[in-house]
Amino acid sequence: MEKPQFDALRRPQAGGPQQAQGVTEDKTVIQDVDRVLQDAVEAGATDIHFEPLQESLNVRMRVKGALVQVRDFQEKVRTNVLNRLKVQSGMDITKNRIPQSGFLRKEFGERKIELYVYVMPSLYGESVVVKLQYKQSATLKLDELGLSPSTLTAYRKALGKSSGLFMITGPPGSGKRTTVYASILEVVRPDMLVMGFDPIVKYEVPGMIQGKPDDRAEFTFADAIQALLKQEPDIAYVGDITNEAEARATIQGAFAKRLVFGRMTANDAVNALQNLIDMGVAPFLLAASLAAVLNQRLLRRLCVHCRAPYPITEEIQKEVGLRLPPDGRFYRPVGCQNCGGTGHVGSVSIFEIYLPSEELNKMIVAKEPLQALRMRAQREGMTSLKVDGVLKALAGYCSLEEVLNSL
Ligand SMILES: [Zn+2]
Repeated sequence: MEKPQFDALRRPQAGGPQQAQGVTEDKTVIQDVDRVLQDAVEAGATDIHFEPLQESLNVRMRVKGALVQVRDFQEKVRTNVLNRLKVQSGMDITKNRIPQSGFLRKEFGERKIELYVYVMPSLYGESVVVKLQYKQSATLKLDELGLSPSTLTAYRKALGKSSGLFMITGPPGSGKRTTVYASILEVVRPDMLVMGFDPIVKYEVPGMIQGKPDDRAEFTFADAIQALLKQEPDIAYVGDITNEAEARATIQGAFAKRLVFGRMTANDAVNALQNLIDMGVAPFLLAASLAAVLNQRLLRRLCVHCRAPYPITEEIQKEVGLRLPPDGRFYRPVGCQNCGGTGHVGSVSIFEIYLPSEELNKMIVAKEPLQALRMRAQREGMTSLKVDGVLKALAGYCSLEEVLNSL
């Protein structure tokens, strides 16, 4: 870690004009910033945080969910470091009091990485987050996502329809894109036209036309959805529905004979429906177009080498609030050499699927309360996120705490 060199600052300059020193510094800054980005890629980091503190610019990166210290830049080069990031990602460096976002593409050896840069003014200068997207060619399989056999069967049956709206929901970072692409790969045939729009293109599917809206360009995301649907794709994907115009355009698209996949942030499957209605989608349109809602969470997977089982006490039984097998076990993370002492390796997904029935559709049109809709869906066989999570915790994939915290 670099510490501010006060001595060096105080020492009178012996020879060499100030200007020359500035130039050297710039070059070093460029190299330093590049080095930070490269280190992050090599470590497989998902994001890098440049945090302005009172006397320095601290840099941390997120690796496997945890923030690790990278270095800290002296205050005198802080602006240069930030400007380097802003210039590279196409931002305006004359502005430093407004939030900005930018984008850059970099190649590190064989790997193509997309970097999304977000700037926010803060107390001691601009705070910058760089999100790294590692491009992957999608070879995902639906049956490798971790759907329980019954959910997988139900979802496959829904996908077998030739039209309808499929909503993939969950909080940010819950693996929604992965599910969308695996679903598309499940149904796509060579004679189909597949198109998608997403602010971040994470996977490349052969033959799929993928657009990316530019927030500084003239057209909006809702315009993009309409333009996409005019091209008459058999399968359309709309990444991140956040407002009325986007929701309406997406739903309209689901009325033609095509499959439409929408990705949206929502807590649970039934809430997702309410969100769409709150955005101004008419309940009868939603009822008429919806094919399924798949809601999910991404949890840390327990290391099988060190996870420690413990019996289910009455207290646990009460906390969970579900009937648990009396001889069942939950597992807690411990930490060993195989998992770098963290107790976790990789991830595991938990899901719930909402499949509309005639009765559920009637309830949506009648604007019945969410709770009634949820109870009815569960009576019809919807496995809630909690039940799926607890079953996976009993099987030792994840800890009970991780499941309960995610709900
Ligand atoms: Zn371990």
